[in-house]
Amino acid sequence: VSGGYQNGCLFCRIVAGEVPATQVAGTERVVAFRDINPRAPIHVLVIPREHYPDVAAVAADGGDVLVEMARVAADVAARAGVDGWRWVFNTGVDAGQSVFHVHGHVLAGRAMGWPPG
Ligand code: AMP
Repeated sequence: VSGGYQNGCLFCRIVAGEVPATQVAGTERVVAFRDINPRAPIHVLVIPREHYPDVAAVAADGGDVLVEMARVAADVAARAGVDGWRWVFNTGVDAGQSVFHVHGHVLAGRAMGWPPG
């Protein structure tokens, strides 16, 4: 299911202000907040305010909010003053997705291994 507020969705609750988060950026359609379990010195999650389960669902709906998400991710990285950053969409259980409201992880502030584990 896509769009709107989905009952029981943790990140919809963060968008609604029902669950606290440390917001670092926001636009009309997008919110960015710190990951509660950071895996790098900079670890920010960039999400659309509207509910989509994963990036494939965003694309299937036209995908234009992805551009706004990319702009917010780039702004977060630019403000952090880092030389490079990684943007990760874990998509599906095998990829390690645990929250089914699409989120791009912005990871930066340390050297990144390749390929990801
Ligand atoms: P993923 O495993 O790709 O679905 O990523 C979900 C991410 O959400 C993980 O990195 C978690 O640490 C993070 N997370 C879970 N709950 C919260 C929360 N309440 N506030 C901020 N980040 C969270």
